[in-house]
Amino acid sequence: MTEAAARPTRFDNVIGGATRPATSGATLPSIDPSTGVDWAAIPRSGGPDVDLAVAAARTAFDTRWRSLRAAERGRHLRRLADAIDEHAGELAALETRDNGRIISETTTFDLPACSEMLRYFAGAADKISGDTVEVGPTSFNFTRREAIGVVGVIVPWNAPLSIACAKLGAALAAGNTVVLKPAEQASCSLLRLGQVAVEAGLPDGVINVVAGLGEEAGDALVTHPGVGRITFTGSTETAQVVAARAAGTLKPLHFELGGKSPNIVFADADLDLAAVGVSTMSVFTGNAGQTCIAGSRILIESSIFDDMVDRISKEAANVVLGAPMDPTTTMGPIVSAEQFDRVTGYIDLGPTEGAAMVCGGGRGAGLFAPGSPLAGGYYVEPTLFTSSRPDLRVCQEEIFGPVTVAIPFRDEADAVRIANGTRYGLAAGVWTRDLARAHRLIRDLQVGSVWVNTYRRIHWALPFGGTKASGFGRDSGWESILENTQLKTAWIDLP
Ligand code: NDP
Repeated sequence: MTEAAARPTRFDNVIGGATRPATSGATLPSIDPSTGVDWAAIPRSGGPDVDLAVAAARTAFDTRWRSLRAAERGRHLRRLADAIDEHAGELAALETRDNGRIISETTTFDLPACSEMLRYFAGAADKISGDTVEVGPTSFNFTRREAIGVVGVIVPWNAPLSIACAKLGAALAAGNTVVLKPAEQASCSLLRLGQVAVEAGLPDGVINVVAGLGEEAGDALVTHPGVGRITFTGSTETAQVVAARAAGTLKPLHFELGGKSPNIVFADADLDLAAVGVSTMSVFTGNAGQTCIAGSRILIESSIFDDMVDRISKEAANVVLGAPMDPTTTMGPIVSAEQFDRVTGYIDLGPTEGAAMVCGGGRGAGLFAPGSPLAGGYYVEPTLFTSSRPDLRVCQEEIFGPVTVAIPFRDEADAVRIANGTRYGLAAGVWTRDLARAHRLIRDLQVGSVWVNTYRRIHWALPFGGTKASGFGRDSGWESILENTQLKTAWIDLP
């Protein structure tokens, strides 16, 4: 923490192994969401900066990275993982300062995950292979898995380091070089990560980090003819813009998008476990519900509805809202004033469309003692609605805050119908002691991940992504490496 505090509050792009400001000299402020105070300046990059970064990435690809032995690429990734471990405290503090993700989560989950997932990808680097295919006796036929070239990585503000490391690890292991565009609200930890990679001896230009606005730097990356693939995590709406803008250069796209993920609680579940799982574990703590997999709908079997709602409200009352740097805090602020307005807008909308507010709803300065620096922060209380109308907007739209809605269901078929009844398909939780039912739901839920008797469990060896409006393609796991390759087919005549 002190290390981060001592650093200058200006962060520059990392391009071709060197730090440099935006060519225009323009900067953007980064706001500490726990106080509302501007604490750092990041480059406001544009097309010329992206051009430089793509050129540096291409040079690194052509002259160094693509021809490196795969095991050597793996060694570089391991060295980067070690460097991340060495700078873990600093990086965790930067991220917590920048986006309000609580320090207990960045230090115990994000940073260890970053280095461990890079080691996973390091181990995979020399295991990528094609196939031989029997076509006939007079030819030898095989496929090669080749690197694509320069991969554009666009990440959101909610967990920049861990989301970026999953994407970087897969892209680099497969032999690509990368230009990374962080979100304007939380760029500092990734700009620093770019420097750490240079200090760790990663060849210049293999990882380039260019900060700026989505519609400027992000768009320049998406439309750049020298970028061979885009991997994007963010909103469904922005993904639609990215898809349209990428059409001109026909890039392969990977989209990890939003969700309205259901937690389904059956009467036979361990209700003590479920109460924690569907509330603090899913949507209230950690990142204040600002996660794509937030369990923002809780479907509860009618016979235990009132009991569960009571238990969930008690869990909400135990949440410790406070400074994200304080290790005793269990829920920090919303990332920005804009996101605060969005979340509180939904909280205000709920009752007007007929949802009943059971707890929460409070926000802003009134949550803290007069004079507290946190009074200027973007804080929202954990909020629980109930509704028997799954069609309400608060039951259908991604809120991306500590807000969830409990919806009763009659039986298993009713639960599946309600669960599948949104445009999203990212994740779901099932709480039951009935193994056969758990398997039926795993089969019938239209989502990319299902957790049974747990929630929000992510591992770099497991593919992660969605269906429907939650996107396509996968982060993590072997699939993410394959998606960072292109397939070549070879035919050798054997006359
Ligand atoms: P966005 O989808 O707009 O942002 C995600 C990333 O895309 C950011 O780096 C952003 O840059 C960039 N971006 C924005 N516009 C473009 C563009 N035209 N071309 C290329 N890149 C672009 O999310 P928001 O930050 O606006 O959040 C809005 C909502 O999105 C949230 O309320 C939530 O519902 C959802 N969301 C989902 C996330 C997830 O994990 N699936 C993560 C974050 C948000 P910049 O921010 O600098 O403009």
